[in-house]
Amino acid sequence: MVRSRVARRGTQRERKKKNAVVLAAVVGAVAVVALGTAVAIGLNASRTQAVSADSAGIPQEILTAASSQDLTPTVAPDAATALIEVPDVKGMQLEEAETLLAVAGFSVLRVSTPAGDAIVGTVLAQQPTAGSKVGAGSDVSLVYADPDAVQEQKTVNAGSENIVVCIDPGHQLKANLDPEPIGPGSQDTKPKVTGGATGGTTKQPEYALALAVSAKVQARLEAKGITVVMTRVSDAVDISNRQRAEVANKAGAALFVRIHADGSTNGDVKGISTLYPAGNSWVAPIEARSLRAANLIQAAVVKATGAQDRGLSQRGDIAGFNWSKVPSVLVETGFLSNPIEDKLLATGEYQDKLADGIVAGILTYLGMQ
Ligand SMILES: [Zn+2]
Repeated sequence: MVRSRVARRGTQRERKKKNAVVLAAVVGAVAVVALGTAVAIGLNASRTQAVSADSAGIPQEILTAASSQDLTPTVAPDAATALIEVPDVKGMQLEEAETLLAVAGFSVLRVSTPAGDAIVGTVLAQQPTAGSKVGAGSDVSLVYADPDAVQEQKTVNAGSENIVVCIDPGHQLKANLDPEPIGPGSQDTKPKVTGGATGGTTKQPEYALALAVSAKVQARLEAKGITVVMTRVSDAVDISNRQRAEVANKAGAALFVRIHADGSTNGDVKGISTLYPAGNSWVAPIEARSLRAANLIQAAVVKATGAQDRGLSQRGDIAGFNWSKVPSVLVETGFLSNPIEDKLLATGEYQDKLADGIVAGILTYLGMQ
């Protein structure tokens, strides 16, 4: 179901009212004295900006933690302060959210992410989440829609020899079934972004799995000195497949790696496959390099996981490929409809193996190993 912009505004207004109530309750509440918690997170679309935006007065270890992909809170043991409930600022404009949080006694870390179809400046995600109780003065990270997110990161990297890889965690919290052309100038359309698969046993949504694996790939690539541009760092985004390809194009990525999971009506079907663009004039310039990357990544992922090898699949009908000007692949990491693979995919250990394999393939493609 597609929600209209009017409906979203309505929701935003309701949230504002609710937050005013929450804030009043917080201010009036008796403070609970407890160990202060400095929370840092690693949503990393624009790491440098996140660090520079509010770096004054933030200890270096928190800044460092903020640049990692680790979502685990970091506890600063020396700050005994009152616990305050974090208000819900999702859907607000960034400045409004910052004001509310400042009044409530929090520091704000800005994390920009490509805007996609979201209204520019909208807060798309927050960490800690609404309702969490954390120490006064703690950092709250706000992921907000910023059309310049990729450009800023690229500017920071200008002059360096950094190789850029764009990672696209498939799907998002809510599908957007509005049509978009399947390629430049095309009359044919496809939904902007579909809902994806769901674990038959675990009920894990594909978008969450894709982001978890993507974050692991990101961390590994960054450890190798590669600049990673993520198309999304939160589930609550609205970025079409065309827009995802455009993020990779804008970033000047050496490779665009899209991470998904499969589904089938046959619960016995399992294994990993890698899709690559081929068979139309849009992708002709990237077909050969994409095929090479797909071959290397598929082989490495199958080796790392021991999963069934379903081989490569050439596709000319995928908007996220047809709009891409850089070599592109899409890894189907397993079948959420297969009970065994579904449970494996839900574990950090198996996700690590997937990430190891994907990264090994990427590094070979880039000539880095
Ligand atoms: Zn998918």
